[in-house]
Amino acid sequence: MYISWKNFNCPHCGELWQRRMVSAPVPDLEVRTCKWCHKEFATPDIEWPHMTLGQKIGYCISEAIIAFLIFYVMLAIMVGAIASDHITSFMDYVVAALVEIGIFLLMFTQPIIMKSLAIKRSKARVAAQEAGIDAPPPPPSPHPSSM
Ligand SMILES: [Zn+2]
Repeated sequence: MYISWKNFNCPHCGELWQRRMVSAPVPDLEVRTCKWCHKEFATPDIEWPHMTLGQKIGYCISEAIIAFLIFYVMLAIMVGAIASDHITSFMDYVVAALVEIGIFLLMFTQPIIMKSLAIKRSKARVAAQEAGIDAPPPPPSPHPSSM
């Protein structure tokens, strides 16, 4: 896995509709209407209930890996700080460790909330779609020209 920005363009007119950092599919609309040419196109996204278990895991883990990488970079910086003579007592080490854990939790909480909201929205969309399919078609509205 690598981290890079990815551009998503409309296949009809080539206009950029989104730029994001993850390459794994996210739980979002599978079909969108282009803002510019108003044509429908398939997105790389998959609604949560339609995802395979592997895709669900991939979605949940991708940012966790990024968070871990950032965490270890900060840990390395902290170890560098410990190596210098700023930290001398055992308590200093404990405080340093608590700070690391605190930063880690802060970094993790936000993506977890964002992801669970995205999953919730996706489930709601699919449920609404399925309800729409199952519901009887609306009664035909009287056409003005036929009256
Ligand atoms: Zn377009």
